[in-house]
Amino acid sequence: MKVLVTGGAGYIGSVCVEELIGAGHQVVVWDNLSEGHRAAVHPQAIFLQGDLADRDLLHRVVLEHRPEAVIHFAGKALVPESMRDPSLYYRVNVAGGINLLDAMVAAGCRKIIFSSTCATYGLPEKIPMDEQTPQRPINPYGHSKLIFEQVLGWYAQIHGIIPTCLRYFNASGASATRGEHHRIETHLIPNVLLTALGQRNEVEVFGENHATPDGTCIRDYIHVKDLASAHILALERDKPGFFNVGTGNGFSVRQVIEAARKVTKQEIPVRGQPARAGDPPALVAASHKLQRELGWKPRHSGLEEILTHAWDWHRTHPQGYSD
Ligand code: UDP
Repeated sequence: MKVLVTGGAGYIGSVCVEELIGAGHQVVVWDNLSEGHRAAVHPQAIFLQGDLADRDLLHRVVLEHRPEAVIHFAGKALVPESMRDPSLYYRVNVAGGINLLDAMVAAGCRKIIFSSTCATYGLPEKIPMDEQTPQRPINPYGHSKLIFEQVLGWYAQIHGIIPTCLRYFNASGASATRGEHHRIETHLIPNVLLTALGQRNEVEVFGENHATPDGTCIRDYIHVKDLASAHILALERDKPGFFNVGTGNGFSVRQVIEAARKVTKQEIPVRGQPARAGDPPALVAASHKLQRELGWKPRHSGLEEILTHAWDWHRTHPQGYSD
């Protein structure tokens, strides 16, 4: 299949492109390189640098390349940043996404796989959470993704777009050649491993009095390759749908740090900090729907394997993609 991948130079997008090409698909990557890295783009993919805000260029690109499907990773995805600058989140995640959809409609491209998030749920009443959990986001990041899910619903009804919304839990791990390199790193696992590498003095633990067994936040860490495989399966679908993508296992911040000490054999000092604004205490997926309807299975998402792969990547790429 010919697939347009927005955000294909980013962490999850670049690993997905690697898997798409491995599965024999043709890939065009669209990325503004604000978060992504040129060196992360698979050499067999066509690379186009562009911004979702550039409506005209997006129209021209989709008309010229005529993809059969779009995988839409490009977007802003940091809870704390969204609490400081909500406008950025609505402009990129909502308005940018609408520009993409309009280009698809103009070119007659109907299939889109959208990177949604468990942050659309807010504070779940029970864990693990399935897709029926009410979507009541508690930060602009989750809200912007929920709005775009709803926009997709209307474009499905009115324009015949076929959206698959994949609600990611916490992407983590690395492939053999592509890993997590954010220019300003805020995520837990890379921060822990950069501390193990000696690039940081300590890990800040945000919030030690949450309503969880050890007081630190619980998340469901899903290996980026398992996340990528959900997209490849979703390409085969021909009706709208929405799915959680997680493992069903939750680990606290303290548990992640302890497991990282074992994998890296480093001390990894920590320091308690106040809780981050907008952080739900616990998010753990029930992904039975994805397993049942798409035949998906997490194959690499044990915490030790995730940390081992991420550690291998950080050790071999201490400066990330060095750009
Ligand atoms: N976290 C932390 N220290 C860090 C980074 C993150 O304690 O240096 C916590 C954060 O508050 C959250 C969890 O680790 O509870 C996962 O955060 P991350 O930013 O990796 O992903 P999020 O769940 O926000 O998408």
